[in-house]
Amino acid sequence: MLLYDVCILGAGLSGLSCARKILHQRPLSSIVVLEARDRVGGRTLSVPAGADSVDLGGQWVGPAQPKCLELINELKLATVKQQWFDEEAPAAADANNFSSGSSVPLTEEEDRELKAIAGQLEGWAESARDPASWASCPHAAEWDAVSVAQFFDGAVKSAVVRRELDLLVRTVTASEPHDLSFFYFLFFLGVCGGLAGVGDGDGGAQSFKLPCGAQQLSLGMAEELQAQGVHVRLNTPVAAINCSGGGGTITLASAGGEVLVEASCLVVAVSPPLWSTITWSPALSPAKQDVSVRMYMGSAVKTITVYKECFWKPFTPQGQLEELGPVANLFPTTVDGAPALVGLVTAGAAKVFAALPEEERRAQVLGQYQKYFCSAKALDFTAFHSKDWINETYSKGCYAALMPPRLATCCGGAVRAPEGRVCFAGTELAISWPGYFEGALDAGYRAAGEVVALLHQ
Ligand SMILES: Cc1cc2nc3c(=O)[nH]c(=O)nc-3n(C[C@H](O)[C@H](O)[C@H](O)COP(=O)(O)OP(=O)(O)OC[C@H]3O[C@@H](n4cnc5c(N)ncnc54)[C@H](O)[C@@H]3O)c2cc1C
Repeated sequence: MLLYDVCILGAGLSGLSCARKILHQRPLSSIVVLEARDRVGGRTLSVPAGADSVDLGGQWVGPAQPKCLELINELKLATVKQQWFDEEAPAAADANNFSSGSSVPLTEEEDRELKAIAGQLEGWAESARDPASWASCPHAAEWDAVSVAQFFDGAVKSAVVRRELDLLVRTVTASEPHDLSFFYFLFFLGVCGGLAGVGDGDGGAQSFKLPCGAQQLSLGMAEELQAQGVHVRLNTPVAAINCSGGGGTITLASAGGEVLVEASCLVVAVSPPLWSTITWSPALSPAKQDVSVRMYMGSAVKTITVYKECFWKPFTPQGQLEELGPVANLFPTTVDGAPALVGLVTAGAAKVFAALPEEERRAQVLGQYQKYFCSAKALDFTAFHSKDWINETYSKGCYAALMPPRLATCCGGAVRAPEGRVCFAGTELAISWPGYFEGALDAGYRAAGEVVALLHQ
């Protein structure tokens, strides 16, 4: 069997960008990428819709995401600006509203409280930015001992402010605040541009989209890699990784025991909760095992509803979006020239929504839009798409894996370290924009550097 220099496990953005970077730095490397699904792109999925496509997975890019913008440029892809319901007052430009699901004005007192807490979060997030110094961060242990919800219980007085903050957490992380470590949330905010970085509106992470669909990033990289002799093998789930054999060779095998690949180095570019679905020999370090078992995936179902008529202008929403139905975060768009709404159902609501049949999901979303826009035209759709990521075997949820209390400060630092000749990538292991495309590239490039160093030894 051919011994590859490098095997990469997972043909998502992280694995493919890692392969690409290794080839840039060491052009003659022999590389194989193993992918369980019948397609590349992982948590990005663009499906045809007439002459257009719709993104059922990751979609947006922000101006503070340089690696992703550079990749878009290198692959000669385009971006277009995301539209907002109220172009005169995009959500993030208004400090009251972090999320486009929030539309109820705050009183002066509520506004003051929200701004004060936002300021505190931003300041503390700065101190949690660097995982290498988590151990010396003065409040790390205290903040990591509580969930975001527990912290808000003690710190937030107004019910309206609390609702805004809970909505922020649910929409940007797809997690319930009671599941997420407060310290990990601060880290996330600190390395993702703060509240304006993760919020909706111009300048935030949802500023641009790719008109041809975000999966083009992975399709473009895979095509380029294959032209350079890299083997990208689809429909190849890996069930066992054996690094205990002779000569330092790493063997990857299927569930039936078939040897799929032998390689000198391995990059594991799947999210941490998936590490524990693989049999490792020798076992992963205790810290990585702990991370794999305890990090949990966020939960989201993405919906896209296409209409003949844009009935939401002028924008006069009736009440708080998520109180009217399952969708927590809503964006206007167009599909093949027709007006459409992208609605994200996240966190606890997504688990309930994912269990419903498609017709029931559609009925709930249309009913919610009817109430929110106070218009029966909301029922007059031409197409409805929904995609549940929670029950996807090779994702187990989205947008990404997150840390519960007491994980970051006990094993968080060990999560990125190579184990022998095995390196680890995937968006969760980024130190910039974890959970986003940018994070997938950040971790992929870091792992590529580690592999190149190993190959030179
Ligand atoms: C609905 C949704 C909306 C999102 N919105 C955005 C957004 O707007 N902007 C943004 O930046 N990010 C967004 N994200 C997150 C973004 O898509 C991810 O951060 C990114 O795509 C992760 O890339 P990755 O390569 O790290 O992981 P993945 O894309 O998960 O790639 C891992 C790959 O490994 C494969 N794999 C897993 N197990 C095995 C195995 N045992 N054997 C072989 N192969 C295996 C998987 O099939 C997958 O292809 C969103 C995600 C979703 C689902």
